[in-house]
Amino acid sequence: MAERFFQPVSGLELPRFAGVPTFMRLPLVPPEHERFQEVEVGLIGVPWDAGTTNRPGPRHGPRQLRDLSTMIRAENGATGVRPFEAANCADLGDVGPNPADIEDSMARITAFYQRVTAAGIRPLTAGGDHLVSLPILRALAADGPLGMLHFDSHTDLFHSYFNGMMYTHGTPFRRAVEEGLLDPKRVVQIGIRGTAYDTEDRDFARAEGIKVIEIEELFARGAGDVMAEARDIVGAGRTYVSYDIDFVDPAFAPGTGTPEVGGPTSFQALQVARELSGVDIVGADLVEVSPPFDQTGGTAFLGVSIMFEMLCAMVQGPNQG
Ligand code: MN
Ligand code: MN
Repeated sequence: MAERFFQPVSGLELPRFAGVPTFMRLPLVPPEHERFQEVEVGLIGVPWDAGTTNRPGPRHGPRQLRDLSTMIRAENGATGVRPFEAANCADLGDVGPNPADIEDSMARITAFYQRVTAAGIRPLTAGGDHLVSLPILRALAADGPLGMLHFDSHTDLFHSYFNGMMYTHGTPFRRAVEEGLLDPKRVVQIGIRGTAYDTEDRDFARAEGIKVIEIEELFARGAGDVMAEARDIVGAGRTYVSYDIDFVDPAFAPGTGTPEVGGPTSFQALQVARELSGVDIVGADLVEVSPPFDQTGGTAFLGVSIMFEMLCAMVQGPNQG
């Protein structure tokens, strides 16, 4: 039972529109805080979108995700899990990027996550565009390559953009495989769809042994069956979860830079995250929420609801035996 300090502020005590917003109304415990070492799962904002190739805006994601996360309550209505009682959870604040320099920003992000992992804290990140996953993985995979469950309408496995730009939100997992941060045989990408430049990304996936489950297969088999296979592929080993909000159909998540039609509903978006239960999750992220395209806040609310499902899976821990 986590102690009082780490409990979120209840909407029964202080109205949800009042107070300074933190992720899920948790205490703000940045690395300098005296209780930082007691945190078990840390929610972190990475307000940075220098990897964006089309419509920008995810740099504003953490603020809006924090604001909409005040609607999250203590108990998972579907499963009964109460994550804030199962583990000490806190908002660790934002990583300060350098919006004028991609490689300097990545170094700052990696350094922050090294402090987080050194304290034994598992990070749950709100992006930011999808390039944020690369510097996070550089910190988390220090002890060897990780498996990964990746929800997205894109593989983000491209070699480069714009004649040699290696770091964009379309390339993070190509770099992560090349750098030995991911074990490609323990990587599953789910929800892939839309028009394509060519098959270069999928050719790379096939050559490396990455499992790509396209949207047609997800709809034909259903979330339960696909996620059972995905859990099988990552197995009992250490696994990262990366969730791009554009996995979801733009009817439900229009507030993102590179939407693709023909995707899952908000219910299905939560369902696949709930199926993460039993995986040894060393960290997770929810990326690509772009508030300038999210006029109602609905995309951000879906985003934090997905983060809550991922948090529930993280605090439950891996299946024993
Ligand atoms: Mn992505
Ligand atoms: Mn995407």
